[in-house]
Amino acid sequence: MQKYDVIIIGAGAAGLMCAASAGYRGRNVLLLDHAKQAGKKILISGGGRCNFTNRKVEPNNFLCANPHFVKSALARYPSQQFIELVERHGVEYHERDHGQLFCNDSAKDIVKILMTECDWAGAKVQLRTEILAVTKKDDTFEVSTSNGDFSCESVVIATGGLSMPKLGATPFGYRVAEQFGLTVLPTRAGLVPFTWHSDAKQKFEQLSGIAVPSTITAQDGTQFSEALLFTHRGLSGPAILQISNYWQPGEAIDINLLPNQDLAELLEKQLQQTPKQSLKNALAQWLPKRLLEALFDETLLAKSLNQLIHAEREQICQQVHHWTILMNNTEGYRTAEVTLGGVDTDELSSKTFESKKIPGLYFIGEVIDVTGHLGGFNFSFAWSAGVACGQAC
Ligand SMILES: Cc1cc2nc3c(=O)[nH]c(=O)nc-3n(C[C@H](O)[C@H](O)[C@H](O)COP(=O)(O)OP(=O)(O)OC[C@H]3O[C@@H](n4cnc5c(N)ncnc54)[C@H](O)[C@@H]3O)c2cc1C
Repeated sequence: MQKYDVIIIGAGAAGLMCAASAGYRGRNVLLLDHAKQAGKKILISGGGRCNFTNRKVEPNNFLCANPHFVKSALARYPSQQFIELVERHGVEYHERDHGQLFCNDSAKDIVKILMTECDWAGAKVQLRTEILAVTKKDDTFEVSTSNGDFSCESVVIATGGLSMPKLGATPFGYRVAEQFGLTVLPTRAGLVPFTWHSDAKQKFEQLSGIAVPSTITAQDGTQFSEALLFTHRGLSGPAILQISNYWQPGEAIDINLLPNQDLAELLEKQLQQTPKQSLKNALAQWLPKRLLEALFDETLLAKSLNQLIHAEREQICQQVHHWTILMNNTEGYRTAEVTLGGVDTDELSSKTFESKKIPGLYFIGEVIDVTGHLGGFNFSFAWSAGVACGQAC
């Protein structure tokens, strides 16, 4: 049986980062993955350009049953350090809205950086390897695989969440946690589009492709101001993906279709200037006509501004600023960017990510109950957790 100091399972964002960090400490590291390629999610992320981090990463950008858990790792490896790593490798990047950083060229550059770092650190990456069992005898772990059996002092589980099973996502990490008696909090799809109820689908699917600025509020009061996109299946766009992390089935969402403007004031001004203008033409200055036709009755839209009674104007403003809609569900793990829930952080050290119950067993990245907002935060956490663990395992 081949011996290593550290075996990391999962060659994704967190696993690669951890392998390099542990390797640089002189640890003899083996990184295993069942996929043909390392960092598959990195490769497809950010539309192929990987939103690899954010200028400003703060604990309140994350959902976790223990909101303090992420603080230590984020403080020890802030986003600036990953930016400097990207710069050292000569990879060019640019900043988009809300401090999001993307590669100029391709997400492949990020995987290349991580693979190069693993190489320089002497960490061995072995792909196409099925993990059959992880067991512990005294102070030694045994990892049995389709390519032989290995022993080690430390095992790091970095197998990610359940989103995008087509890319090789499995519940492996949760099963290992349960096998060793660790609590796994219920999981659900996050950063995911919503689907229509059948009656709403009939009305709104024709709007597919329309994007508008919006502020969306979840039932718990959490708010995001970003673009809203109508799709054939339902609602998507950054604002919806963000709010999906805070949504539970059966809850309504409140959508402001004209954020930062006061429709009552706009209509009043318009009434003074062009009293005979139709409501439809007036509203079309601020919102797409097709959206107006789906939201309002044709006879109401045909009325001129001076024909509208006070109650009608109020109802129009309410509908635009507080469009309240009950969505059927999310698209689920098939298209979700992340998985909410996972290995309970109460089970882990926030400094090293080692299990409190099982010395030598570590969990990092998306497999644990930490989920970031949209905007490079999920990779940020993977880098920080990977480094924190790599310095300890
Ligand atoms: C479409 C999409 C776009 C995204 N875009 C962004 C973005 O731009 N910015 C951002 O911050 N986040 C983004 N994310 C989220 C981000 O990809 C994840 O949060 C991040 O990859 C989690 O890192 P991880 O290392 O924990 O898991 P992963 O990167 O998922 O890696 C897990 C690894 O474990 C392996 N594995 C799983 N099961 C087994 C098993 N049984 N045996 C062996 N190996 C196994 C997998 O093959 C994989 O290589 C995106 C996600 C998706 C799906």
